Amino acid sequence: MPDPQFVKPVARPTACPQCGGKIIDTLAKVIIADTCWRCRECEATWTIAGLAMSAGRGRQGPR
Ligand SMILES: [Zn+2]
Repeated sequence: MPDPQFVKPVARPTACPQCGGKIIDTLAKVIIADTCWRCRECEATWTIAGLAMSAGRGRQGPR
């Protein structure tokens, strides 16, 4: 059972982060940061937690 602190409701994504497609889907009944989303247009999968992590870290590495 997940810890209630981790189960924060989040807004569902409005577009695919990969291709910007609007046709996105999830199997989850409750939308949380760890909910896995799939784009029907490019088949990309992602989580909001994963997006926030990559966005908050900025660029990684010397490049
Ligand atoms: Zn996509």
